[in-house]
Amino acid sequence: MTEIRDTRHTGSDSDFENRIRPQELDSFSGQDKIVDNLRVFIKAALMRGDSLDHVLLHGPPGLGKTTLANIIANEMGAQLKVTSGPVLDKPGDLAGLLTNMAAGDVLFIDEIHRLSPVVEEYLYSAMEDFKIDIVLDKGPSARSIQIELAPFTLIGATTRSGLLTSPLRARFGIQCHLEYYDTPVLNRIVKRSASILGISIDDDAATEVALRSRGTPRIANALLRRVRDFAMVGGEGHIDLAITRVALEALNIDSRGLDQMDNKILATIIEKFNGGPVGLNTIATAVSEEAGTIEEVYEPFLIKEGFLKRTPRGREATELAYKHLGLAFRGAEETLF
Ligand code: ADP
Repeated sequence: MTEIRDTRHTGSDSDFENRIRPQELDSFSGQDKIVDNLRVFIKAALMRGDSLDHVLLHGPPGLGKTTLANIIANEMGAQLKVTSGPVLDKPGDLAGLLTNMAAGDVLFIDEIHRLSPVVEEYLYSAMEDFKIDIVLDKGPSARSIQIELAPFTLIGATTRSGLLTSPLRARFGIQCHLEYYDTPVLNRIVKRSASILGISIDDDAATEVALRSRGTPRIANALLRRVRDFAMVGGEGHIDLAITRVALEALNIDSRGLDQMDNKILATIIEKFNGGPVGLNTIATAVSEEAGTIEEVYEPFLIKEGFLKRTPRGREATELAYKHLGLAFRGAEETLF
């Protein structure tokens, strides 16, 4: 008898995401202070039988904002509705969502800095008094009625907190800034994902993946997936340090985890501006990226890893940045004359 096997792929990328995304605070690694505080706020809200205060999560992409929103809804035993700033372009879109929420439900708005001003203003009274005004009819017969909403929790996520208006920011009672993860925490995340997916990986191989992940769980998980492919094709499927290095080399992954834009920023400062100091806007124009994105998404990691310094006169590349790009270091005193 021939064996019938299901040959459809069994591990698509979205499937992978769903399986490894932590569902409760206990399986969320790192960000200890945020997790500890959220645990208290959630417990207190549950004890009062109240909805959780509105939460703003800010920080660079891939650090766990969506994951935390899921976890918060889960821990509150609430329903989660997900949308994003650019999708909500009319107040009516928001009204539709809000009027369908039950008490305690969580509304997650990703990229909340991209809300249009009219929608944002509409959100104020919803967040503060759990009320919204809806305009019925048009022209002379137009009238507005006020609708009471069930008390809900808004979770806003943004990579660009600098773009939030202060009235909106002030309406979030809980504000959390997510930081880049250090290597031991990323090592734990890689090993956890591997074990969920039934991948066997050595500790030193997990550390190698962690080191090259730009401090970002999303990148660590993506690299794990690619290294697994190399291990399956080139060996027995077990991931050791040797196959990890071969895979990362083949994928052109930077030895310090920097991505293309990180390297472009450093190379630009060094090659076009003598290593700096150079102003943020000048760098932004030279690399064709928004100044705010450089400041909030790229720069924090480069500074944390010691490639870049922020000085009163502008940004400066450090000796480490020259070394990383294989260039001879020209100290500041040489460039003065
Ligand atoms: P963001 O919304 O900040 O861009 P996500 O919440 O989508 O980031 O996280 C990206 C991926 O990284 C998710 O697949 C999630 O599984 C994983 N991840 C993020 N933070 C953690 C963490 N602290 N522990 C374990 N996995 C994490």
